Amino acid sequence: MITVPFLDLRAAYLELKEEIDTVINRILDSGCYILGPEVEAFEIEYAAYCETKHAVSVGNGLDALHLALLAMGVGPGDEVIVPSNTYIATWLAVSQCGATPIPVEPLEATYNIDPTLIKAAITPRTKVILPVHLYGQPSDLDPILDIARLHGIKVLEDAAQAHGARYKGKRLGGHGDAVAWSFYPGKNMGALGDGGAVTTNNPDIADHIKKLRNYGSRVKYINEVRGYNSRLDSLQAAILRVKLKYLDNWNERRRVIAQMYLDGLKDMGLIVPYVPEYVEPVWHLFVIRHSNRKELQQRLSEAGIGTLIHYPIPPHKQDAYQDNAMLSLPISERIHDEVLSLPINSTMTVGQAQYVMEAIQRVKTSSTKKRNHYS
Ligand SMILES: *Cc1c(COP(=O)(O)O)cnc(C)c1O
Repeated sequence: MITVPFLDLRAAYLELKEEIDTVINRILDSGCYILGPEVEAFEIEYAAYCETKHAVSVGNGLDALHLALLAMGVGPGDEVIVPSNTYIATWLAVSQCGATPIPVEPLEATYNIDPTLIKAAITPRTKVILPVHLYGQPSDLDPILDIARLHGIKVLEDAAQAHGARYKGKRLGGHGDAVAWSFYPGKNMGALGDGGAVTTNNPDIADHIKKLRNYGSRVKYINEVRGYNSRLDSLQAAILRVKLKYLDNWNERRRVIAQMYLDGLKDMGLIVPYVPEYVEPVWHLFVIRHSNRKELQQRLSEAGIGTLIHYPIPPHKQDAYQDNAMLSLPISERIHDEVLSLPINSTMTVGQAQYVMEAIQRVKTSSTKKRNHYS
């Protein structure tokens, strides 16, 4: 029987085993394990890839968001506009600054923040707008940047799911004032451990994050600000340098599978992703919506197909944000009730994608029959 795991990180490693093992041994021999020349080389290469002036690596994606907000001057009493429909890390980064996340509903077609609703959420306390490029598809940045400029506030993008994606032909990384990245193993470009980065064209933001990630210090034992410990280690940097060379190929493989799904899942009683003409997504996730998600997930699981839900509970309904529990965010809540992520990744084959579509077709046929039988 064919099985289709949602994600197989070991298979992804084995594809590059020889190259990765070689660089790991090189770092073990180098005697330098945190920051250092390997991390600097990765930062230069990642900035070039993102078409930005600076890339500053940090310990993980949450820290990338948190330290970038601090570098933009966000603190207690401030407000940051966030999508209501996102992974909770986006909100947590704001809370960690002592600031308040102000949720704005998404466009139902793209699942990304609705730029037309942002203006009403701006107050004199608003410091930053924080759009997320959810599922690997860029948010509509131009109207967001226009509003921000008009009000003199900054834009930080959460691109943890969107390595390599393009907005109006230009690679993500330098549209807003800063862009936060995660290299968590399951992302489009993942390390073999935690990692993150901030890209920016603003030298002050880059410089401030370099201090914040290392105890507030640029020169050893000189502490200019109260910093944190959030550094990338040399092993992860070396692994990421290898992986960066393959990122475009991997994204292309995801694109092929996404196109198969888009073509094959039309007219099956479910909602497939909508791609506006101004974006080139990188398909971190392929998210469909179905009114009976539970049954579909169960039937796919019986066919050996792994699916996940991104995400089952929106941030404002989590215990961590009890103070937001009374907020009414109906679009977000509906999305969370219906979404299901089909397998899509860089090691998946065309045959596996075909198998997933056939399984969905079978579910559709049998549930139509059932309905006819009982009616
Ligand atoms: C993964 C992710 C993060 C956090 O990244 P970590 O490296 O796990 O800290 C932030 N935002 C979004 C949208 C993510 O998907």
